Parts: sequence; C-alpha cells; structure tokens
Amino acid sequence: MKALEEFPKRFVDRYGSSPRIFRAPGRVNLIGEHTDYNDGFVMPAAINFNTWVAVAPREDRKLTAYSENLAEGAEFDLDAPSPRPRHDWSDYVFGVAVMLQQAGERLRGADLLILGDVPLGAGLSSSASIEVATGYALLNNTGLAIEPVALAKLCQSAENNFVGMRCGIMDQFISCCGHAGRALMLDCRSLDYRLLPLPPDVSLVICNTMVKHALASGEYNKRRAECEAGVSRLARDLPRVRALRDVTLTDLERYGRDLPELVFRRCRHVVSENARVLEAAGALERGDAAAFGRLMAESHRSLRDDYEVSCPELDMMVDLAGHAQGVFGARMTGGGFGGCTINLVRTEHIDEFKRTVGREYEHATGREPQIYVSPAAEGAGEVQT
Ligand code: ADP
Ligand code: MG
Repeated sequence: MKALEEFPKRFVDRYGSSPRIFRAPGRVNLIGEHTDYNDGFVMPAAINFNTWVAVAPREDRKLTAYSENLAEGAEFDLDAPSPRPRHDWSDYVFGVAVMLQQAGERLRGADLLILGDVPLGAGLSSSASIEVATGYALLNNTGLAIEPVALAKLCQSAENNFVGMRCGIMDQFISCCGHAGRALMLDCRSLDYRLLPLPPDVSLVICNTMVKHALASGEYNKRRAECEAGVSRLARDLPRVRALRDVTLTDLERYGRDLPELVFRRCRHVVSENARVLEAAGALERGDAAAFGRLMAESHRSLRDDYEVSCPELDMMVDLAGHAQGVFGARMTGGGFGGCTINLVRTEHIDEFKRTVGREYEHATGREPQIYVSPAAEGAGEVQT
C-alpha cells in the first residue's frame, strides 16, 4: 500500500514527533457460521488487509486520533468521569481506551494516526482490526504488555459495551492470534484454539456480492431466538444441554422430532455445522484440501436451506465459483443476506478465477463484485520502521 510508505512521515508532519506503529489484520471465516452464539466452533484466518495505528506519547491526559481513511480527527479526555460514545468511528478507538482504563490501567496521553486497507463495512472486520491495533498502540505507549487473548476480550468488550454492537469474540481473537499460513479453529465456549495448516499452494479468495439486504439484523435476532427455543425443548430430555453446542445429530433426531419444523431445521444447521468444523480441522491436518472443500459446500447448502440466511446473489457467486478451475470449495461467509463468499482457490488459478467469476457475476446481476485475495496472515504486532 503506497500510503503506508509515507505513513511515518505523515505522523511527523501532523504531530511533530516520530511514532511507533502497530498493525492488526482483518479476517475471513472459512467454516463455522452462526455457531458462535451457540457456544460452538468457528474457523477464521487473518488476512493480508490491515489497520495501522501510529502512536507517540503526549504530556497531557488527552488522546487525539486522526483517520487517514476518513480524513477526520477526534479528541478524547482520559480523565473524563463518564465517557460516552459519539456514535461515529472514534468510538472504536476511544472505546478501547475506556475498557483499558476500566480494567485498571492508567493510560498515558497519546497522538494516534490511523490508516487501513481493510474495506470498511464489507464483512472483513475492519472494526476488530482498528480496535486491536489501537489496543496495542495505547498499551505500548504506556509501557504495558498484554496477552493476545486478553487484548481480544478487551476489544470485544469495547465493541459490545462502548460501540454498542453485540458481536462475538471471533474477529478480535483471530486479529490478535492469527498465524501466517494457518487457519484457527476456535471453541467459542472455552476459547481453546488450534492452529491448522492451510495447503501452501492455495489462497483465500473473498468475493463481495456488493449487496446487503435490509433483512439482516431482524433475521439474525429471529435465528437466535429459534436456537434458544430448540435448546429449551432439548434440555427437557437432556439436562446437560446448555446450548446447541451440546447437541449431536443423533440427539436432535431422537428428541427434536416434536419441535416445529422450522426450529428443527435451524437446530440441524447449527449442530451439523459444528460437526463440519471439527471434520474440517481434521481435513486440514491431513492436508486434504478436497475434503475441506466438500465441507465448505455442505456448509453453504445448510446455511441456504436449513438456516435460510443466504440470498440469490450469494448462491450465484458460490455456483459460479463451483464451475471455475482450481477451486477446492466455496461458501457464503459472515451473517448472510449479502456480503461475501469465501473460496479456497489454487494460487495459480487466481487470475483466471477473478476474471471469469467476476465477469459472469456482473453479467448475471449487473453488479461488479469486489474480489480480494490473501494468504492466511499473521496476527497483530508492532511494525518495525
Ligand atoms: P466491518 O467490521 O465489517 O468492516 P463494521 O461496521 O463492524 O464493519 O465496522 C466498520 C466501522 O469501523 C467503520 O464504519 C468505522 O467507523 C470503523 N473503522 C474501521 N476502520 C477504520 C479506519 N481506518 N478509520 C476510521 N474508522 C474505521
Ligand atoms: Mg465489524
């Protein structure tokens, strides 16, 4: 990214001192969709799209932040007795400061300059990447260290409690703990995780359908309620069941037959998806990209037919990828009703994939998709300048 080369100088021009620079990546989820709020398994990878936060100390108790992406600045008083969100981008930055101070750290004042190449609002989690990079910047600026998992939790709580977005821990976790060339299987209940090797000759290809249907948040809440209804019913016969994570397909067949048909299908998606993530981890450990790809296809079908969170554009993009050369697997990724698909593509076929899938999708829908290509990337850290 060209702007990155000039980033340290831009900091000096703006603030007059030379900065340290921290970086945190966005992410894509390879498999395990709508499992996080059911205490289940997800499998994201960090991607080569990042937010960089440059930082230098100030003598007073203020934070100043300037986003190069938005060409907008904001200021925050670290001694403010009850800081409130402003309902703009600065909440992601100052929310992290608020949570750090609530956790008992006394932060030093700082000047911050922010630059990102994670597309904003595209489902690649620019929000987690700006939070995590800010967290590292503020802590290091104060001379404090933190464990990556602790930082992930803190950034999640900034997004939940200051920004006001009810997200799970996946995005912040993978931004902190990702490894180059690896996917990460996360147990959303225990936060245990396993790093899994991706085949060296495949890339992650993310296709943005360029649609976001208005249904998304209302339907999301309905799905959560349907999962809860399933749990209440199943827990009558199976008292150990606290979440759909605790249910097997055999349990569901045996004890779920009197559930409303719709709730049964919602539960079947979550239960089968958890099983698929575990199987997918095994496939990566064996180096079996074809098996991994088949699980991605099954995941998409389950999200489309049982969970009903896909849409014609996502189905179209997955279908087109299925006809392209060198594709191991394709599925929708993220909450659904628009957004992106994730494709596992042999690296030598990427240019052709972008050309054909891009052209055919545009032909079919009239929308030009954005296509992002990345290896699985390293989690957050300091950038040596
Ligand atoms: P996503 O996480 O999928 O990109 P979100 O809506 O969760 O979408 O987060 C996007 C928001 O995060 C942006 O609207 C903006 O407020 C904030 N943000 C992310 N990156 C930056 C940046 N570089 N500069 C300013 N704000 C940013
Ligand atoms: Mg986000």
